[in-house]
Amino acid sequence: PVSADEESGADKIRVVVRVRPLSQAEQQADASALCLKRLSPQSLKYGTDEENADSGMTFTFDQVFWSESQQQVCDKVGVSVVRNAWKGLNSSVFAYGQTGSGKTHTMTGQLDDLQGEGLIPRISRSLFSTDAAADEAITSFKVVATYYEIYNERVIDLLGETDAASPRAALRVREHPTRGPFVEGAVMREVGGWADLAQLLRRGNRARTVASTKMNAASSRSHAILQLSFVQTRIYGADDGGGEFGGGMRAVDRESKITLVDLAGSERADKTGVTGDRLVESGNINKSLLALGSVINALAESVTSTSTSSVFVPYRNSALTWLLRESLGGNARSVMVATLSPSALQREETGSTLRYAERAK
Ligand code: ADP
Ligand code: MG
Repeated sequence: PVSADEESGADKIRVVVRVRPLSQAEQQADASALCLKRLSPQSLKYGTDEENADSGMTFTFDQVFWSESQQQVCDKVGVSVVRNAWKGLNSSVFAYGQTGSGKTHTMTGQLDDLQGEGLIPRISRSLFSTDAAADEAITSFKVVATYYEIYNERVIDLLGETDAASPRAALRVREHPTRGPFVEGAVMREVGGWADLAQLLRRGNRARTVASTKMNAASSRSHAILQLSFVQTRIYGADDGGGEFGGGMRAVDRESKITLVDLAGSERADKTGVTGDRLVESGNINKSLLALGSVINALAESVTSTSTSSVFVPYRNSALTWLLRESLGGNARSVMVATLSPSALQREETGSTLRYAERAK
């Protein structure tokens, strides 16, 4: 069943926020000092300068997750991704937020504990189970994975063969005349099930560029992009018993892409005490996060816009938005998950994440 929202494209961009529990360190500092308070399943209050969130600004989103489980978050965010894939629509999910706010928890979670699994394992498992198939015409499907990161505006394959001696080379982004931008020479692996894909992810995650900052010892300074190309072969026409594709039957391939992105930390450089190279990184990170915000903003505007002239979408402003053009615009459905700490200690970064998410609506 297709909802009215799905028909009209009103659900093209959804913005949800997820507030994690206080960390142990935050709790020890002051267990009671929160800068956020949930008002309803769609709204929260942000305390701008008080010690608590009772006074302050109200923000409204498509969903506010507070203590929801991984399963509950997947029900609201992941299920539609799989349904769209079967319908031939591209979907993407982006996790945005400061380092330590829960992006990786939301996208990947624990790979060795069913309850702790994040969106990537849950979406993948469900993709491989044909329960979600839109109709009976489907006869077979395959899933091909690519996994790369964007670091300092350079695209680096996380599935490429490497040896310790040579640093991983950046790949070029090219534009295919009909299929749009793609990473030239990226490894594309067909995966037969979640176990296959989990193995690829573990390998890719080991290859991820990490550098330590004061905020988090394993802070990730790059955007990690997992793309699953889902190709269905469907048989149409009446079965007149004339062989596999005989008589009036036709086999048709339909491809849809699922793009799952764990964005680099959104925190500002000066707060985390970084210098030199790290500062250059931060500049590039902010540039692509800003570009992503502008693209999502323009897309959201074009959905609500009543004018017939099309809204300009600035995909070209960063490698991230350029590469993901086909997964953001067109018939794609996107969800931005903004992850937040409720601690008053993180008031400033939480405020800037909320403003970013607000702008993306
Ligand atoms: P990020 O990827 O944004 O840097 P992480 O996902 O690594 O942050 O989260 C930081 C820590 O907080 C991790 O130990 C993670 O398990 C925990 N955490 C994050 N979100 C939640 C949540 N919703 N519930 C419980 N623990 C969480
Ligand atoms: Mg992370």
